Amino acid sequence: MSAKLKAQIVRFCKERGADMTGFAPVERWDEYDEVPSDYRPQALWEPTRTVIVTGFSLPLPIVETTPSVPHMELYRTVNSALDRLAYDLTRYLNSLGHASFYFTHDGFSSLKALRRANLAAFSHVMAAKYAGLGTIGLSHCLLTPQFGPRVRFVSVFTKAFIPPDPVIDHDLCIHCELCARCCPKGALTAKGNSSLADYDKSACLDMAETLTRQRLYPCGVCIKVCPVGKDRDLYDQKGIGRKYLREREILEADPEATAYRSWTHIRKYGALDEAEAADKTGTIGIRIPEKDKDNHGPIQ
Ligand code: SF4
Ligand code: SF4
Repeated sequence: MSAKLKAQIVRFCKERGADMTGFAPVERWDEYDEVPSDYRPQALWEPTRTVIVTGFSLPLPIVETTPSVPHMELYRTVNSALDRLAYDLTRYLNSLGHASFYFTHDGFSSLKALRRANLAAFSHVMAAKYAGLGTIGLSHCLLTPQFGPRVRFVSVFTKAFIPPDPVIDHDLCIHCELCARCCPKGALTAKGNSSLADYDKSACLDMAETLTRQRLYPCGVCIKVCPVGKDRDLYDQKGIGRKYLREREILEADPEATAYRSWTHIRKYGALDEAEAADKTGTIGIRIPEKDKDNHGPIQ
């Protein structure tokens, strides 16, 4: 019965556009003991036995344009698709008699709230790792074999026991440090043999705030440059680390450099420049509605 239910759920998610779905038993949080107890599934919803994690991929050529309006819109589209799927799957499982609950794609309402407490109540990244969808890279992002870190997740908790997927037992991160070297804020610092970089959340948040003011959130450079993922074969974009590494320096010297022209062209249109973004009166550029001043797009 539970194997049949698993197949039904996978089909349900796939038919609604999900690129990957995995299943984690709640015991994995105890077994790995990496997540504080208040942030584990049964602390959020006690009846949980299985966490279903499903993901939508971010097409590489759009991620490469970051920061840009198409990249911002991609995030919005993916986030809304994730929540829609989680909501539908929760009601589908309920209709089959398996009580369920979902945790929205992001767990914060504004960057101001993140300044106060820079943590979500639940980590989809850890859930995706325990559901066998990938491993955590130096950048603190989940790297998947199919899309590297270019995928976003949502989690559905259910009372049903569903056969788990095995956790990936080898590190997908190749420790190239491109994520750290390309970060515009120097927020990631590789440390000796540590599998995770030191992550300066405050510096990353500074970047998020700047881009939010310009209506260009999120940053995602660490997601763009990661060489992991079969999506690079699909788009014939393997082995271009040097292009990413030199992007800032070359564009500072020549904003019209041919190698980056498709990205810089897209970036020119539709967003506020820094002066317009800093202007609160609305006399430069467009006026930001009061209700949107502290809003933001989704965060990685
Ligand atoms: S999102 Fe941007 S600022 Fe934050 S760590 Fe990644 S590259 Fe750095
Ligand atoms: S860019 Fe390199 S070091 Fe960073 S997460 Fe990807 S593989 Fe790991």
